[in-house]
Amino acid sequence: MKKSGILGRPLGHSISPCFQNAAFTNLGIEATYEAWPVVTAELPERIQNLRGSDFLGANVTIPYKELVIPLLDEIDDWALKIGSVNTIVNQAGLLIGYNTDTVGFLRAISEYGNYEPSGQDVLLIGAGGAARAAAHALMEAGVKTLWIANRTYDRVKRLADELLEIGEVKPIGLGGPEFRKSAASVSLIVNSTSLGMRHTSEAHINPLEGLNIGSSTLVTDMVYNPLDTPMLIAAENRGCRILSGLPMLVLQGAASFELWTGDGAPVDVMFSAARQALIDQSD
Ligand code: NAP
Repeated sequence: MKKSGILGRPLGHSISPCFQNAAFTNLGIEATYEAWPVVTAELPERIQNLRGSDFLGANVTIPYKELVIPLLDEIDDWALKIGSVNTIVNQAGLLIGYNTDTVGFLRAISEYGNYEPSGQDVLLIGAGGAARAAAHALMEAGVKTLWIANRTYDRVKRLADELLEIGEVKPIGLGGPEFRKSAASVSLIVNSTSLGMRHTSEAHINPLEGLNIGSSTLVTDMVYNPLDTPMLIAAENRGCRILSGLPMLVLQGAASFELWTGDGAPVDVMFSAARQALIDQSD
């Protein structure tokens, strides 16, 4: 039996084990996927263990996506640009780091949001790890102007500076006239902050509260629990198209699965398992 899992802390609400195990079972692959909570001091040893022949690899989540980089042997181009690894593949004892959030995000907005970013104006909210993946993916996909709004301005300025050579990027603060102006004019708004997430003190917050948003705008949230965040409920009430964070979550997981197994991921099976896991958690 081969092993894989997710390294992070805390992992209590991770639904990745549910949909990854469903994928292994569906394809008859003898492998398991477990939640591996780990404290920082243990991280080097846990990564070293992944070199064993019984390990396919691992997913990595908060707070280790950057910390694992020096512990790996090779890093692919996307992960290197973003500075963040969410997937480790054990290739005969050699550990290779990837970032599948980028492909998961682009596939989600294209296949589930019917949105093509090339030539479009986009507002991205947040400048953390998830925002970095989306920002790089959007710029590489040919977005015309990318507005990035973040609570901490220094962080968003650094991200924008990295992207300036690819195209037009405007770092702005959360709230304020530029935030309001961009929200009213773009064709896609992406929340990549943790605002609206269940089990947090900010679960009730809509980062677009009080803003004027065009009804043709696609509004998408990276938060996937709950599926109907306050931001998405408000956007839908205004007539906007909406997209939850679940397609991105499943599709980044599907890309990890394909890297570990070399098989096409059974995406529909993974979706059903992920939805069921969220329903079970909300009971
Ligand atoms: P992170 O690196 O910790 O970044 C958190 C971001 O949220 C930062 O921009 C931070 O702003 C902002 N933020 C936090 N609290 C805030 C508040 N009270 N007001 C305003 N801004 C606030 O986390 P991450 O890895 O980017 O993850 C962000 C979210 O995306 C999480 O909910 C995560 O579950 C989700 N995510 C989803 C997927 C998916 O596949 N659907 C993939 C990855 C992540 P500052 O810079 O000012 O602190």
